[in-house]
Amino acid sequence: MQRCNRIEVRVEGVVQGVGFRPYVHGLAHRLGLSGHVGNDTAGVIIEIEGAEQALSEFLAALPDQAPPLAVIERVRTSPLVATGQQGFHIVSSNATGRRDTLVSADSATCADCLRELADPTDRRFDYPFINCTNCGPRFTIVRDVPYDRPFTTMAPFTMCPACASEYHDPADRRFHAQPVCCPACGPRLRLLDASGAELPGEPLAAAAALLRGGAVLAVKGLGGFHVATLASDATATAALRARKHREDKPFAVMVADLDTAQRLCRIDPVGQRLLAGRRRPIVLLPRRPDAPVAPAVAPGNRSLGLMLPYTPLHHLLLRHTAEPIVLTSGNVSDEPIAYQDDDARARLVGIADAFVTHDRAIHMRTDDSVVRVFRGAELPVRRSRGYAPEPLTLARPVPRPILGCGAELKSTFCLARGRHAFLSHHIGDLENYETLRSFTEGVQHFRRLFDVQPEVVAHDLHPEYLSTKYAYDLTDVDLVGVQHHHAHIASCLADNGHAGPVLGVAFDGLGYGSDGTLWGGEFLLADLAAFQRLAHLAAVPMPGGTAAIRQPWRMAAAYLGTEAPKELVTRNAEHWDSVLAMVARQVNAPLTSSAGRLFDAVAAILGIRDSINYEGQAAVELEQRADLTEQGSYPATVTTGPVLQLQGADLVHAVLADLHAGVAPEVIATRFHHGLADAIVRVCLMLREATGVSVAALSGGVFQNVLLLERTVAGLEQSGFQTLTHSRVPPNDGGISLGQVAVAASSLRSEDSR
Ligand code: ZN
Ligand code: ZN
Ligand code: FE
Repeated sequence: MQRCNRIEVRVEGVVQGVGFRPYVHGLAHRLGLSGHVGNDTAGVIIEIEGAEQALSEFLAALPDQAPPLAVIERVRTSPLVATGQQGFHIVSSNATGRRDTLVSADSATCADCLRELADPTDRRFDYPFINCTNCGPRFTIVRDVPYDRPFTTMAPFTMCPACASEYHDPADRRFHAQPVCCPACGPRLRLLDASGAELPGEPLAAAAALLRGGAVLAVKGLGGFHVATLASDATATAALRARKHREDKPFAVMVADLDTAQRLCRIDPVGQRLLAGRRRPIVLLPRRPDAPVAPAVAPGNRSLGLMLPYTPLHHLLLRHTAEPIVLTSGNVSDEPIAYQDDDARARLVGIADAFVTHDRAIHMRTDDSVVRVFRGAELPVRRSRGYAPEPLTLARPVPRPILGCGAELKSTFCLARGRHAFLSHHIGDLENYETLRSFTEGVQHFRRLFDVQPEVVAHDLHPEYLSTKYAYDLTDVDLVGVQHHHAHIASCLADNGHAGPVLGVAFDGLGYGSDGTLWGGEFLLADLAAFQRLAHLAAVPMPGGTAAIRQPWRMAAAYLGTEAPKELVTRNAEHWDSVLAMVARQVNAPLTSSAGRLFDAVAAILGIRDSINYEGQAAVELEQRADLTEQGSYPATVTTGPVLQLQGADLVHAVLADLHAGVAPEVIATRFHHGLADAIVRVCLMLREATGVSVAALSGGVFQNVLLLERTVAGLEQSGFQTLTHSRVPPNDGGISLGQVAVAASSLRSEDSR
């Protein structure tokens, strides 16, 4: 007879609420092994006994065949004494001890559930809340840990006998699926008119009929309310813009499937994978010229943000409309997205003609995520629904629990403990009370969920940011101020698991510099602990301060003065002289080395945009206008000294010369992008010469611009640089909080070693 061995196997990661125990149960059965499996606060714990060969097969298969939502971070084994136990059992959870388990992100409806949704003989046929262990709501419905039904917003719904038997059957796909429900026992959909009265008929069929009639609908989704129209309806999409006070910022479009997506956009295999994956972000894709989408959906933009349905409700709605719909955040202008029923009704009543709503509460407001595709990988623009709160694994554990408070725009926070950095969902622009409340509540929620009590708090240096003030108000913590662009580069290092030193290129709109001036076109010799500013874009005045951010023409005036083209002066005649006077007298015209403002100047000179209505608009439209077949580039000098200065004015003058020569704005836009990228590469070469460092890290919101990013990375690689870019967190300020955590952790380590 063969000798039996017994081992203990501990599995850590996202392994609870994802069907891991039944999976282990099935695997053990197949291999004829005995023992048991259970959850504890650290993950899943298995005791397993059998022949050596079968045990090694078990360990080999364990990570490979794991359920789709599981993320295995570590498997540890230790030998035990064989007991001769017969059979394999699932044992109940042990909820004491440190909370080390992870809450899964919300996940798109799985193929099995979709099959049942479409099957007239299934008891969940056409049921908009179908889900299972492999899919459905998670983070957005979790009130507390452990992840158990009473601690979710499914608590008010009592399972019917049929659902309960699935829930308790280890062989069932819905074993311990906390949100399990059916038409007999679960949430119910309703269609309400603007006055709140319930409309008759099947709600989604009726909703689709309203959309086809040109209505604007509010739709309660996974992380909040969307507003929807038919994407092809020029009148409805324009009305939606007017009612939302959202002039130009592109709307996202939801399409039923990949085939429909392909008719709207050109999509490579990476884009397809991102669209159809379980996270279901909005993917920004090149739009086909003949795409049947109304002009108001994405004005001034040759890209479209597409997403595929990620809840059964969306699948059913699109089946009924049979054509793409606009699905954009349910809010007025820049407010946080509405997610509570009463609040949504109050705030969206002037926008939506009717409401598709239901009685499953959303606990955590979570916006859709947004990604671009860069060199076969995702380039995050907004990391939120489908990603949060999945932790980012750090290369080295943090010595003490740390909170990073982020910056101001596109705000996120980040809580870190051990090797885990929990980067929050997208909070929004921290400019008002509503967003600040959502920020502080979010921090509280994450502290509880992941049992992190921050001892160290990292913040931006800008004294006026609400995130900085929040940090200052905390007691019993150690504060670490982190310079904005250092945080950008540190976030890129953390994104890549790199410790530095690197030549960090941090290009963005604005950040508070160590010298109290406004930075934004920085070349830093940096590691996680410290940085040195070795070069930057030559500073120019920002006439009117923040007014210059809203009105790019002011930056054109600052760069060109009396040389500015006549049309630009005429268009802005009213304030032109006073703006030039501000520049000349250096009054109300703070100096800035911002790359974002350089893009603004060029966009205004080319007549693309004199004033903006969403952040970064001028730069976005400049990239969208660029002629991608153009090869030319503009030269820019780099002046030497203790700190190198890249003369952005050279690029601006080259733009002006070509404009006077009658060159098309599309061609000029490309040459400008190329010129800036080439200049970045040249500065990096000079800095490599001086420092010996041959790794470059590119971060900051400007590097969301794929035209600039591609040319810069290609140039750096041709010059023998190793180049780090973003793939896990956004290069924009949404990644800042992670960078702050990385810098604070590093400073704690160097304190320890002193
Ligand atoms: Zn499912
Ligand atoms: Zn049921
Ligand atoms: Fe920034």
